[in-house]
Amino acid sequence: MNYWRQQANNLSQRLIEIRRHLHRYPELGYKEFETARYLAQILRQEGIEVREHVGGTGLVATIRGASSGRTIALRADMDALPIQEKTGMPYASIVSGVSHACGHDAHSAILACTAMLLQRYRRKLAGTVKCIFQPAEECPPLGGAKPMIDAGVLADPPVDAIYALHTAPNLPVGTIGIAYGPMMAASDRAKIKILGEGGHGSAPQQSVDAVLVAAHTVVALQSIVSRNIDPHSAAVLTVGQLQAGYRYNVIADMAVLDCTIRTTDVHSRQLIQDKIEQIVDGVTRAMGARYELRYTLGYPPAINDTVAVDQVIKAAEVVLGEDSVRIQEKTSLSGEDFAYFLEQVPGAFFWMGSRLEGDRKQYPAHHPAFDLNEAMLPLGVAMFCQIVEQELFREPLAGGE
Ligand SMILES: [Zn+2]
Ligand SMILES: [Zn+2]
Repeated sequence: MNYWRQQANNLSQRLIEIRRHLHRYPELGYKEFETARYLAQILRQEGIEVREHVGGTGLVATIRGASSGRTIALRADMDALPIQEKTGMPYASIVSGVSHACGHDAHSAILACTAMLLQRYRRKLAGTVKCIFQPAEECPPLGGAKPMIDAGVLADPPVDAIYALHTAPNLPVGTIGIAYGPMMAASDRAKIKILGEGGHGSAPQQSVDAVLVAAHTVVALQSIVSRNIDPHSAAVLTVGQLQAGYRYNVIADMAVLDCTIRTTDVHSRQLIQDKIEQIVDGVTRAMGARYELRYTLGYPPAINDTVAVDQVIKAAEVVLGEDSVRIQEKTSLSGEDFAYFLEQVPGAFFWMGSRLEGDRKQYPAHHPAFDLNEAMLPLGVAMFCQIVEQELFREPLAGGE
């Protein structure tokens, strides 16, 4: 068995203990006070250098090698979701209405144990490893990555490459999912207020019907993805909400459209933003109405670096075996604020198989009954350690048996 896998297996009980502690006491984004304190304490007990309150509740553990070299960052998110847990497990959340339904408890436990292992091997390290525990991944549009970057987490020493993993309920334990290039989508929002002129339902000639203008706007907006976006580039525009009117015989003076926009490249992202404004401006003008548009940029698309993806795939083949890599043909259209890190430095985000087996049903992430297979925890540690070995160890470790 691979050396790191053996080492990580020895930490299995510790991993489960940390994961379950975090699971039992989840905290929402920007409020990971106890989570960060708990992790900081664990890391300091191992003699690891820890910086707290980086960009809010963020935490950075730094492992300095015996000799100088490049700097590699590993990132975990720490926040839970405003969801009432319904797993019925003994380690279920004891905080009402809050739970780790996205597996960030596992990410934090994996990174903490990775830091412990690397600390023990720091004499073999040529360079530095920064373990970044990030708040508020579930809190777009700001998120928790951006405040940490603004607080200088990627500087001093400057980070050369960054990696993150995420539990994958649809992949079996022992496999990973990854994509070259776009991995996750940009997630933006457009709120459009259409201002007409109210009136009596029997006298349309004296009014500007906001409902009719809104209807034309909805239809016209749907031409953007179908007619302006390259069919090879994934994009979605959904008008999720449309509100207008007061009564069946009253012409509405106002309508509000609220839309989510998902794109996988910066060109499409800009194009949709521009087109929405043009269409809303054109339709309202043609029909005698006015508009107000508020466009909010959420997380950018997460674009994996080719060299970093190769590192992840190589690590998976060493740690998990030849058939462990699933190349993702389709970009996930959900958002992920690891994208902010990937805008600054090359790196890769990958899915770590966490599917439950046996008679326990696997629910998707963000479901109240979501849970993960804890057998994935040591594999995550081994993956991170192997990537660091490839990046920073002067000579490979004796490969184990
Ligand atoms: Zn999530
Ligand atoms: Zn997540």
